[in-house]
Amino acid sequence: MTRHLHHLSWTQIRDLPKNEGVVILPVGAIEQHGPHLPVWTDTLLVTEVLNQTLAALSAEVQAWALPPVTYGKSNEHTGFAGTFSLSAATLNAVLLDIAKGVAASGFRRLVFINGHGGNMAVLDAAARDIRAETGLMTFCLHPHLYVEPPFAISDNERRLGFHAGELETSLVLALTPDLVDMSQAPTHFAQFPVSAPPLFFFGAASAAWLSRDWSSTGVFGDATLGTAEKGQQLLAAAKVRLGQLIADISRFEIPTIA
Ligand SMILES: [Zn+2]
Repeated sequence: MTRHLHHLSWTQIRDLPKNEGVVILPVGAIEQHGPHLPVWTDTLLVTEVLNQTLAALSAEVQAWALPPVTYGKSNEHTGFAGTFSLSAATLNAVLLDIAKGVAASGFRRLVFINGHGGNMAVLDAAARDIRAETGLMTFCLHPHLYVEPPFAISDNERRLGFHAGELETSLVLALTPDLVDMSQAPTHFAQFPVSAPPLFFFGAASAAWLSRDWSSTGVFGDATLGTAEKGQQLLAAAKVRLGQLIADISRFEIPTIA
C-alpha cells in the first residue's frame, strides 16, 4: 500500500477506507539557513522526516501524505537573498483550498506537518478555520516534534539555537550531506536583552524579531557542532514520536457531549 496519496488514481482515492485515516500535508519554507545550508532546508527536512516516519508505520495505520506546500511564511528572514516567502494571507488561502479538496474527497482528518517555525501561527489559525468551515478534524505537528534531540545540547543551543544551528545542520548532514558546506558553518547566539519576565524570541512575552536584527549570518546556534550521526539520532527519535502521533490521530474521534 502506498503512503503517497498522489500516486493513486481518483477512483482509488474515492474507494479508500475513510472512517479511520488521515491525510498529511507537509508545509515547508524556502528561506535562508545560513551560509552553510541550502535554502531548501525546511521543506527538505519536513518531507524526509515524514517519508521516513510513514515508511516505518505499521500497515494497519491509515495515513497518506500529500506533496508538500514548498513555500511558507518566512518574512522574518527578509533581507537575506534566497528567501522566498508567502504572506500569511496567501499561505492561509492555500491551506484552506487544499483542505476543501481533502474534505470533498471524503476524508475526515487532516494533519499539517510543519517544517518551519514561522508557519506556526498561520497553521494554527488555518487549522481552526478549516475545522469550522469544512468539518475536518485538523491537527498541527510543529518542528520541535522532530528537532528534539535524544542527546545533550548546551543551554545556549536549547534556548537560542533555533535556526540553522547544531540540530538543523545535523539533520541536513544526515540526509543530503552534498548540500552542506561545513567550512562556512557559523556559531552565533543572539544577545537578546534580559528583562523580567523575559522579553524574548518566543514565549509568553515575545518580540516580533527579524533575523537580520540579531544575526549577520542568519544563523542562531552553533552550526559547527552539527554531525550526520546526530542527525541520524534525531531522525530515529522523530520517527518514533511522529509515528505514534500519526497513529493516534488516524483513529481520533471527537467525543459526543451530553
Ligand atoms: Zn529551518
